[in-house]
Amino acid sequence: MHSAVPGPHSRSLEHVSRPLALEFVTSGAKVADLPPSPAEIAIVGRSNVGKSSLINSLANRKQLARVSNTPGRTQLINLFTLPTGATVVDLPGYGFANVPTREKAKWQPMIEGYLLGREPLQALLLLIDGEIGPTKLDLQMIDWVRANDITTVLVATKIDKVRPSRLAGRKQQLSKACNLHEGDIFWVSASKGTGLDALRSHVELLLTPDT
Ligand code: GDP
Repeated sequence: MHSAVPGPHSRSLEHVSRPLALEFVTSGAKVADLPPSPAEIAIVGRSNVGKSSLINSLANRKQLARVSNTPGRTQLINLFTLPTGATVVDLPGYGFANVPTREKAKWQPMIEGYLLGREPLQALLLLIDGEIGPTKLDLQMIDWVRANDITTVLVATKIDKVRPSRLAGRKQQLSKACNLHEGDIFWVSASKGTGLDALRSHVELLLTPDT
């Protein structure tokens, strides 16, 4: 998606990473509510894409980010910090079926405000359901981040749900629909742990300030 960020193919997968030592800090409704941060990545995706499960798995914690579909709570920006002070930001999901129109209308300015206005943002992790994605909304999101030059890493979730005999075809189909190479996408399963080491290493790399 953005050539400045090396894809998963460019690093060794032999390295086994430790869980990310994330701690919850605060929630906010807009950028101005968030504390300063030296470096930050954000995570976004359609509701139910597996975002909370992935954050929990990256940190190896069961209850860090809530795994739920409670619309009210998920309309906030949740901020987690690493011991270095770098932060991981959990953005509210899009595409909720049961959210009132008034709530839905708040999503776009909130996300756009964050992505365009948050100075320490290094990259966005855009989650796509590995079994069924990309959806129409996912493709709109991809178009928007490309148009606005937001450094973005695509992560395909729940790949354990794809039968092994169909996996190669599914990867090809998803990559093509997103106009990317397979090697530019992280293929993960929070349930089975697949791909988490590579993604953790990449997150750490993104959050390490240039020396
Ligand atoms: P969020 O709305 O994006 O935060 O999604 P959640 O993390 O709450 O997950 C939505 C649903 O997908 C829950 O029922 C999870 O148990 C399930 N889920 C999440 N990750 C995985 C995965 O890697 N594999 C499978 N099979 N299910 C998953």
